Amino acid sequence: MQLSDANFDFDVIVIGAGYGGFDAAKHASEHGLKVAIVESRDMGGTCVNRGCVPSKALLAASGKVRELSDSAHLEGFGIHPSPVRFERRKIAEHSNDLVAAIRTNLTKTLERLGVTILRGIGRLEGLQKIGLREKNGVDRILTAKDIILATGSDPFVPPGIDIDGRTVFTSDEAVNLEWLPRWIAIIGSGYIGLEFADVYTALGCEVTMIEALDRVMPTFDPDITKVAKRNLIDGRDIDARAGLLASKVSPGCPVKVELSDMKTRDVVDQLEVDAVLVATGRIPCSGSLNLGSVGVETSRGFVPVDERMRVLSPDGSSISNLWAVGDLTGKLMLAHAAAAQGTVAVQNILGEERTVDYRSIPAATFTHPEISSVGLTELEAKDLAKEEGFELGVVRSYFKANSKALAELQSDGLMKLIFSKDTGEVLGAHIYGLHAADLIQEVANAISRRQSVLSLVNEVHTHPTLSEVVEVAYKLAYQQIKKEKI
Ligand code: FAD
Repeated sequence: MQLSDANFDFDVIVIGAGYGGFDAAKHASEHGLKVAIVESRDMGGTCVNRGCVPSKALLAASGKVRELSDSAHLEGFGIHPSPVRFERRKIAEHSNDLVAAIRTNLTKTLERLGVTILRGIGRLEGLQKIGLREKNGVDRILTAKDIILATGSDPFVPPGIDIDGRTVFTSDEAVNLEWLPRWIAIIGSGYIGLEFADVYTALGCEVTMIEALDRVMPTFDPDITKVAKRNLIDGRDIDARAGLLASKVSPGCPVKVELSDMKTRDVVDQLEVDAVLVATGRIPCSGSLNLGSVGVETSRGFVPVDERMRVLSPDGSSISNLWAVGDLTGKLMLAHAAAAQGTVAVQNILGEERTVDYRSIPAATFTHPEISSVGLTELEAKDLAKEEGFELGVVRSYFKANSKALAELQSDGLMKLIFSKDTGEVLGAHIYGLHAADLIQEVANAISRRQSVLSLVNEVHTHPTLSEVVEVAYKLAYQQIKKEKI
């Protein structure tokens, strides 16, 4: 039975104040709804406190150290640098200060909008009802017409790995840069492992990268990986080992790492390193939500949602007035995706029919240089082409033909554009190279509008800029369009 509007404590209660919860609460409040947000740890969630923000601060500082230490690169400009000195503590402080500033701004934004911030652990207590366990132990029940779950994710630590937070740790601790190990093993070569390898090698650490799957960087486009790996892994003090499982990791001095063959599970090697960073993915924070009280069953802990962010019951029907957004839904575990989902959930609450267009949401890895992507992978596009009966096109545009990249002496880079040869519609793009994270946005916008290279090819790009790499890709694709079909 639903409660009548007048009986609710709030119009909307959001559980979790990460990027997803923040955007939902902000949007709802800006549209006149009475909103409360529940947070058990730090306002801003993973992104602000333990994710995007501190890691990008570390990457910014360590990237400068890398550039200033690269005498071969600088000598190309006729610059002869003196040895670079850096203070680890100040780099860490830069990151901590940025986190504090962004967390304060975000909290103030919600306060200014009149959002009630509730500190404690939130859980469902049936439909339109939550329980709040405050830090002082007080437990109370609150009601809301709509409830948005936005409790995010935590690092996944595989069995056999013991974390002590000092010598064996996850990204939660790594962002504090409390010390610089001489030799660190990074378990996982996804974007988090790669970004920290970038930071650590720039600051003089030796890295062993352990990947369980049969190639390093398994989540990236294979062609992009080939080019990126040459620079980001092979060209650095990184020993990358694929097909190996870190089956046992024991903290201490040294940290002992047992490596097993992924296929046979036989122990094949032992390492003794100064530290281990476990970057093996993330798991949803759904355990504390009491989802059983509303009959929701999770899938590997992820909360099932439809395209409007309504939570689904096991029979596939949506549960009234219950929404979930962000990492908790496991759709695209990125901050801007969480924020987009938060806004869409609220728009639906407000009576608009909105869905999230995942195909147009870009992703970036902020290594030096960066890697980015949007839309379909080549494999997904091949399947779609077969299903829908169109011919697939793939073109490559190289940074070594770009004047700006050449001027910067950073012309190692590749863009791959995936499109339909029948209509010219852009389906996906994958970029490795200088400022790839910024370059991808142009393609994301084109995909969002389902644009074709037939029109994109007429868009004039500033010369000389890196954006001309995208322009060249559009032009190459245009040459392959089956004009007779249009
Ligand atoms: P979260 O940010 O995880 O927030 C959930 C909040 O809910 C947390 O504050 C948690 O304390 C709270 N909570 C949980 N359970 C309860 C409960 N029962 N009651 C009350 N509160 C609760 N993404 C990018 O887009 N770009 C990047 O560059 C990027 N870099 C990253 C780097 C690292 C090292 C990591 C770890 C992640 C990075 N991400 C990045 C991913 C990004 O941080 C997440 O996708 C994003 O934070 C998800 O937002 P969310 O709102 O779903 O959840």
